[in-house]
Amino acid sequence: MKRQEDMEFFSRHLLEWYHRQKRDLPWRRSRDPYHIWVSEIMLQQTRVDTVIPYFNRFIGRFPTIESLAEAPEEEVLKCWEGLGYYSRARNLQHAARQVEDAYGGKVPDDREAVFGLKGVGPYTAGAILSIAFNRPEPAVDGNVMRVLSRFFLIEDDIAKAKTRVKMEGLAKELIPGGEASHFNQALMEHGALVCTPKSPRCLVCPVMERCAGRLAGRETTLPVKTKAKPPRPEARLAALVEGRGERAGRVLIRQRPSSGLLARMWELPHWPAPENDGAGGGAARPEDAAAMDRLRRSLAEAGISARPEEHFMAAEHTFSHIHWTLQVYRCREERLPLPMAAEARAPYAAQRTAVEAPAEASPPALFPAADSADPGAAPELFADEAGHAGERAEMRWIGREDMANYAFPNVFLKLLNAYFDQRDAAASGG
Ligand code: SF4
Repeated sequence: MKRQEDMEFFSRHLLEWYHRQKRDLPWRRSRDPYHIWVSEIMLQQTRVDTVIPYFNRFIGRFPTIESLAEAPEEEVLKCWEGLGYYSRARNLQHAARQVEDAYGGKVPDDREAVFGLKGVGPYTAGAILSIAFNRPEPAVDGNVMRVLSRFFLIEDDIAKAKTRVKMEGLAKELIPGGEASHFNQALMEHGALVCTPKSPRCLVCPVMERCAGRLAGRETTLPVKTKAKPPRPEARLAALVEGRGERAGRVLIRQRPSSGLLARMWELPHWPAPENDGAGGGAARPEDAAAMDRLRRSLAEAGISARPEEHFMAAEHTFSHIHWTLQVYRCREERLPLPMAAEARAPYAAQRTAVEAPAEASPPALFPAADSADPGAAPELFADEAGHAGERAEMRWIGREDMANYAFPNVFLKLLNAYFDQRDAAASGG
């Protein structure tokens, strides 16, 4: 009986609080399931403040499911650039195409159909169905599990799948009749604003009176969560190859493999650092001759005719399972270049063609040697990437003005901007 009363108390007070306190967020201004879907995908692992400008830009550029389905993938990735977890953007576009093909461009309001969309898991499906269609479906993520663990003093490990199932059952029971949309948003909002991970604001909490976690002094020790394995450190050597002659002012970028980590995004070429210089678990030292030598060999093996000259800077990038430490070297293009490959400023359409037909396409002659009978020898850059040995890498020479045409992971965006800033400052004597 007490539990039933607690549940009713929780739902009623949370809902009242939400109607008083909810934030005015762009995706709350409409019930368009497409907008809600985009916002929920963007909000995964990303803070609301960060998401707002991305959401506005994305919806401005792709206002309908049809426009997203028909856009070149490169434009979608460019619009997502900086948000990270790029498979979310790819899956979203894939799912938009599913909706176009199978549901006439309308997001289905049917649980099974929504679950069948690429990249839509139980949480996102619950969020779309409840927020957009007011269906009594739970939408349980880490925030919601934290709130429920504390209020109901649940000590199960939220990293376990069976705990999530249990929480989903509880969250569904808590939804007041006809209020799924507002209630689920209230739960999310409360986790974001009041029952926060480290310092829950119990004194202003609308359900404080009956919160079992707080009454037991457990508000900061719940939820129970076993720690995920820390990301594996990986030292990498990156080449900032500066063009000469007609390519002066440009640097070389390559496109990542068509699947896997950061698929099809653009980057500076980089390879694993030598294992015997501490790279196995740490980072190559900038001044390390062995690292420079390894980079020189990696460049040569990849068919890139360039010599490392000096350390430029170090950078880091963390994925859920890997932590890269990159030592970046300025490299000088060695051979006198012939005219720049025509596709160096290729628009998206031309890039797409190259991506769609990599096996038959002739690779661009990026480093044509004056005396070579095989000027277009295909660099095979991905020997070190699991599952991508032998896949040809697209490469381009770009200037700063071309950056808008390519989607880069954050770390390379920052490196390239730092490089062009530094160079422009040096050129203007600053
Ligand atoms: S009283 Fe504190 S711990 Fe309990 S739900 Fe509210 S904010 Fe969270």
